[in-house]
Amino acid sequence: MGTIRIGHGYDLHRLEALAPAGAGRPLILGGVRLVHDRGPVAHSDGDALYHAVTDALLGAIGQPDIGQLFPDTDARHESQDSEVFLAEAARRVRAAGFDVGNLDCTVILEKPKLSPVKEQMRANIARVLGVDVGGVNIKGKTNEKVDAVGEGRAVEVHVVVLVVGR
Ligand SMILES: [Zn+2]
Repeated sequence: MGTIRIGHGYDLHRLEALAPAGAGRPLILGGVRLVHDRGPVAHSDGDALYHAVTDALLGAIGQPDIGQLFPDTDARHESQDSEVFLAEAARRVRAAGFDVGNLDCTVILEKPKLSPVKEQMRANIARVLGVDVGGVNIKGKTNEKVDAVGEGRAVEVHVVVLVVGR
């Protein structure tokens, strides 16, 4: 087995109430649109799970983070589907001579429950990274009503990933 490297990713997006007319960004996590009355404040589509995985992959190979690679001052990333960021990070991992081993993600969100969509999120990440779904783990937690996350005003994600040299 080749060199093993670890990467860590973290992201948080503020969640704001969606207007009744449906204005505002819907809550999207792991490429799945969730039914919720709040959505992320973001320049892109605000997918905190994809963003944290992207940063974990980039961190594992010692490359600039998502904010440096895809600045939110760039109009091309307005409402961007974050799958583009994740796919680019995966491409960079392969180009650096590594394969993605496994990743473990913790999504902290008060509402809604993630269990109905967790498998879809895993499948999406596995597909974009080109890894077996067994290598992608997602845990959903609440913040026990404590602080902004617990009051439903933000979503927070932590990810660790291992990449293995070829
Ligand atoms: Zn983000």
